[in-house]
Amino acid sequence: MDDCIFCKIARGEIPSKKVYEDAEILGFHDINPQAPVHFMLIPKKHIATLAGVTPDDAGVLGRMLTLSGRLAREQGSPDGYRTIINTGRIGRQDVMHLHIHIIGGPEPLGRMLPKPNV
Ligand code: 5GP
Ligand code: ZN
Repeated sequence: MDDCIFCKIARGEIPSKKVYEDAEILGFHDINPQAPVHFMLIPKKHIATLAGVTPDDAGVLGRMLTLSGRLAREQGSPDGYRTIINTGRIGRQDVMHLHIHIIGGPEPLGRMLPKPNV
């Protein structure tokens, strides 16, 4: 995808602070971190959104999840972390190239979602 920002990062056309790279997957720090540890894992291949994946994508998605624990520990989240995959309009996905946010740090995070106004 020519004008996809994460494809450009995957191709090295936009610089990023990498935490991991192999033939299929790139991990890099979020430019606007929401916690002391906040990086993303992306497939190098353009997949727009989790809602549109096919069985062909299962391998790379599984490998991304399988990498997350080791990378989170290496980045300073020693005892767990949060994974977020914002998906589509309802999920408030801003960048339409599938990505897993890995969020954590030395201390427990806040609640996953604000309490509903009921
Ligand atoms: P989304 O809301 O789509 O799940 O998250 C997109 C994330 O990408 C945001 O957290 C945003 O800070 C991050 N982001 C957007 N543009 C760039 C960029 O050029 N470089 C990096 N490293 N992160 C970006
Ligand atoms: Zn892309």
